Amino acid sequence: MLFWYYYFNILTPVLEGKLLDDDDLTLIRAYSLKVNYGLTNDAYNSLRFLFPQAPLDTLKNTEKRIQFLSGFQPVQYHCCPSSCVCYTGPYETLSTCPKCKADRYKSDGKTPQAYFHYLPLIPRLRAMVSNSSYAKKMQYRSKHQHDPTKITDIFDGAHYRSLLETPVTIGDEELPMWFFSDPRDIALGFSTDGFGPFKQRNKTAWPLIIFNYNIPPKERFRKENIISLGTIPGPKKPADTDSFLWPLVQELLQLAIGVSAFDPIAQVSFLVSFLFYHFQMNYKGYFYVACLLDCCFW
Ligand SMILES: [Zn+2]
Repeated sequence: MLFWYYYFNILTPVLEGKLLDDDDLTLIRAYSLKVNYGLTNDAYNSLRFLFPQAPLDTLKNTEKRIQFLSGFQPVQYHCCPSSCVCYTGPYETLSTCPKCKADRYKSDGKTPQAYFHYLPLIPRLRAMVSNSSYAKKMQYRSKHQHDPTKITDIFDGAHYRSLLETPVTIGDEELPMWFFSDPRDIALGFSTDGFGPFKQRNKTAWPLIIFNYNIPPKERFRKENIISLGTIPGPKKPADTDSFLWPLVQELLQLAIGVSAFDPIAQVSFLVSFLFYHFQMNYKGYFYVACLLDCCFW
């Protein structure tokens, strides 16, 4: 019942598989030039005059078009000015911080004191699996050869091996699927760690990061393959981190059931599922990543 409810209510129509036309490709190439080489806004806006034959547009219109094509839209949430909580879930309607009693809004009663910017995960996973070279790279997990006498990756760990024989359940509802039964299912890891953005380390910020374990280990932790979900702005350690993770949990629930995407290798639409993850909160960055992997999987 739950599965079919989500199937019809959450899965969006499949638009993937359509090729971008030449105009859109030109626009995206020009915009990637700006992003990759730090072109100023004025320099970008002058491109359409330098190359009048090219289908270029203003920066504002270009960004609007690319946002539409990508289906990606950052989401703003209000948060406590000291980053105690994010006003999501049970805190959504509160007007003062439940931890430090600071006002949610400025004196005008409508402008929030602080924002937390959340960068949705699903559109980016969709884009990854719909890209043929990236999709091939992500076949690493399903093609991994398990040797019971060796541990070479997290996919040799006991936890992952047991999940392969476990049906997916959400709440009390058992879904008609098994963990990682589809070779395209994605294994994700979550990490966060406080860091001091300024020399005087009296302020901390907390980046929220997702790792894609379907990618081979050598490339997995490269900057271009790490997915940022945003940063808890600080200046203090969050009192309720869960409230900042609320939007991520909502997305993970959707992903556990499946989200429609296009398979560029088989040329068919399918449900991409994230079905496995670990969470870690740590204070010493990647050192603890290794520790957590040890604890969770090995
Ligand atoms: Zn507070």
